[in-house]
Amino acid sequence: MNKLYFVTGSQDLYGEDTLKQVAEDSKTIAGYLNEQLKQIVEIEWKPTVRNSEEIINVCTQASMDADCVGIITWMHTFSPAKMWIKGLQLLTKPLLHLHTQANEKLPYATIDMDFMNLNQSAHGDREFGFICTRLKIAREVVVGYYKHNHVIDKVRRFGEIANAVAFSKNLKLAMFGSNMREVAVTDGDRVESQIKYGWEVNYYGIGDIVAIADQITDQELDDLISEYKSIYDMNTEDMDAVRVQAKYEIALKRFMKNGGFGAYTDTFQDLHGLKQLPGLATQRLMATGIGFGAEGDYKSAALNAILCRMAQNRKGATGFMEDYTYDLTPGKEMVLGAHMLEVPPQFAATKPAIEVHPLGIGDKEPPARLVFDGVEGEAIAVCMVDMGDRFRLIAAKIELIKQPKKMPKLPVARIMWKLKPDFETGAAAWLYAGGGHHTVVSTALTMDDMRIFAKLTGTELVAIDEDTRLNALQKELGI
Ligand code: MN
Repeated sequence: MNKLYFVTGSQDLYGEDTLKQVAEDSKTIAGYLNEQLKQIVEIEWKPTVRNSEEIINVCTQASMDADCVGIITWMHTFSPAKMWIKGLQLLTKPLLHLHTQANEKLPYATIDMDFMNLNQSAHGDREFGFICTRLKIAREVVVGYYKHNHVIDKVRRFGEIANAVAFSKNLKLAMFGSNMREVAVTDGDRVESQIKYGWEVNYYGIGDIVAIADQITDQELDDLISEYKSIYDMNTEDMDAVRVQAKYEIALKRFMKNGGFGAYTDTFQDLHGLKQLPGLATQRLMATGIGFGAEGDYKSAALNAILCRMAQNRKGATGFMEDYTYDLTPGKEMVLGAHMLEVPPQFAATKPAIEVHPLGIGDKEPPARLVFDGVEGEAIAVCMVDMGDRFRLIAAKIELIKQPKKMPKLPVARIMWKLKPDFETGAAAWLYAGGGHHTVVSTALTMDDMRIFAKLTGTELVAIDEDTRLNALQKELGI
C-alpha cells in the first residue's frame, strides 16, 4: 500500500523529556491519521528530526521509497529552518504541511512555560512555512486540530491526490496509431509529458491487437457475451457484431495487462485488420479505470487514468467526454456531451443497452456500443493542452442535468450539462483558455482537487467557475 511519511520537526535544545513527549504526541497523531485514512494510504510515523543530517536522511528516504507517495511535516516545537534547506532540496515527493497541535484547547489553569516550549507549532510552523516559500516548494498547507473533520478531509484529499501523482509518474500509455491527421489540440510534446509527468507514451501498431484477438477462443467469447447479457439490455439481433467487440475487449485487456499499461488511444483512421472501431470494448475498459483518449489524444487518455485513480475511493463517475453539440434555447442553454462511441458506462443513469449502428465515419462495419442516458449532479470538466512552452490544465465547474427529452434516434451514450457562471461566459472562457473538445468529466472530483493537483505537479491551471468574468480572465491569460 502507498504511504505518507509523517515527519515531525524539532531540535536538540529542549532536552530529553521534551523530545520524548514530542515523539509520543507525533506517534498519537500519526496513528490517528492512519486509522482515518486507511482506505487511501498508510501513514508511517518517522522518528523526530532534530538536525540537518536527520532531515536529509528522511527526505532522501522518502524520495527513494517507491511506496512513499508524499510526506506530512509538522513542527511540534520550533525547528530552525536552515536545518531543512538541504533535505527539502532533495525531496521529490508531494509535501503536506500540517499546521496542527497535540492539544485542541489551551489548559488555562495549568499553562506554564514548559507547556509553551513544547506546544509551539504556531511558532515553529511559521519558520518552516518561510523556508518552503523561500525555496519555492509547492505544498499543501492544512490548518486545524488533527481530529477535526475538516482537517481529516483535507489530509485524506491530499492522500488521494498524492496517490494520483505517484500513479502518473508510473503511467505507461499505448497509442494505437497516431494523432488524428491535421488535429492540433489533441497533439502534444510526448517527451515533455514524460519529463514533467512521467508518462511513457509509445506507439504500437493496431496489428498487435489483431494478433491477440486471433488467439481468442469461442469459449472465452461465449463467457463474455453471457456477462454482457446479465448486465445490459441486448437491443440488437446482430450478435456477430457484438462478438467482434467482445473479442477486442479481451484482446485490449490482455495487451494492457501484459504491458503494464494504464491508458491507451486509438484512431478510426488506423484500424488495419479490425472490422469495427472499438466501441463497446473501449467503454468496458474505461469502466475498469483504464484511461482512454480518442483520435490519438494521449493527454486526455493519461488525464482520464490519473483522475480515475484520484477518484478511486469516492462516489461518482469519472471518464472521457467530448463537447459535441448545444441546445441554445435562451436562458436554458445546454451542452450535449458524447462521442462517436466511447462514453464510459460510469455515467449511465439508465441500464445500458448494447446496440449496433453504422458509424458514418471511417469506412468500417457497424460497431456495437453501449447506449444510455447520463447521470445528474455537480461536476468538473478538465482538459490538458500543450501551449508550446508549457502544459495548461483548463477546468470548468459544470452541472450535469437530466436530458429534457428522449432522443430515440441518437445511437450513442450521452450526458448533458449546464455551464457556469452561464453558458455564454463559460463557453467563451473555455475558448479563450484554449480548451479542447475532449475532456475528462468527473462528478467525484472538485475544482479544489484540480487546484492541488496542478500545484503539486507545477502545472498552469485555468479555472472556470461561478466567479469567472471574461474581462478578468482575458487579463489573467494575457490575451
Ligand atoms: Mn473526439
